[in-house]
Amino acid sequence: MLVTTACSKGSSSTPAETAKAGANSPALQPAVAPAGESAPPDSGPLPQIDSKRTFQYIKDIVAFGTRPMGSENHKKVENYITSHLKGDQVDDDAFTADTVEGKYPVRSIIAKYPGTKDGIIVILGHYDTNYPLRNIGFVGANDGGSSSAILLEYANQLRGKKRDGYSVWLVWTDGEEAVREWSEIDSLYGTKHLAEKWEKDGTLRKIKALFVMDMIGDADLNIEKETHAPPWLTDLVYEAAERGGVQSHFYARAAAIEDDHIPFVKRGVPSIDIIDLDYGYNNVFHHTAQDTLDKLSPRSLEIVGNTTLEAIRMLDRR
Ligand SMILES: [Zn+2]
Repeated sequence: MLVTTACSKGSSSTPAETAKAGANSPALQPAVAPAGESAPPDSGPLPQIDSKRTFQYIKDIVAFGTRPMGSENHKKVENYITSHLKGDQVDDDAFTADTVEGKYPVRSIIAKYPGTKDGIIVILGHYDTNYPLRNIGFVGANDGGSSSAILLEYANQLRGKKRDGYSVWLVWTDGEEAVREWSEIDSLYGTKHLAEKWEKDGTLRKIKALFVMDMIGDADLNIEKETHAPPWLTDLVYEAAERGGVQSHFYARAAAIEDDHIPFVKRGVPSIDIIDLDYGYNNVFHHTAQDTLDKLSPRSLEIVGNTTLEAIRMLDRR
């Protein structure tokens, strides 16, 4: 992904303003529900993912090695993901991408968990690793690994339960990374294709909210306030974090980030990118051979996982 503007360093936003914006108190700025009404109070237990299991998924995926689109190791991760979705309703979006480095197979894997309410909540996370770094031993524990793993854990949480809410679709996206240098044409191969397909077949109109999980495993977790998201969705995620008492990990910085949500943002789908783009001091581990397991923590996966599932539960009740 790419940061287009960041308010954290050297911009107009003062620390005080950032803190105030980060607090996002619903009392100051009421969240606007899609249906125009607020959710009823809820006292049910907060969702709880199995963070040890999620961390193990990252270990397994990293063990395959570097996994750029079109590679043998990429195929192994595809098989790893689908082998964990046995018995689920699984679909895919496979095509050949014409890139500046030639033609590559791209395959987004989609698992669908039907709900009783009319509408879909989509969660995306990419499983390809950076293509230009394929020869330096880049394993993408955080960038590609954490996103693939948290979606597998969401599948565990959703499987076999009657959903009294919206349908949830999990999408392991492919071709998120640029093959040469990030640009509008060289990036987001899988999601550009999927968004176009879903526009044509009417799926987009049914999406109530779309979440992207990317680089969410950093032990020093600071989720950005990503500015393409509509305020009501930004606030909803913050409220979900507050319910778990983990809001200090959210929104210390605001930034506009290009990631898998962009093709959907362009088509008017309410979308939020859950991402920590301060991976190591000054983001030094991002897109380097240093993106390894020892930088990650199960606790960070738990913070993001529980908050996201709680946000979905809140959406269900709107
Ligand atoms: Zn990346």
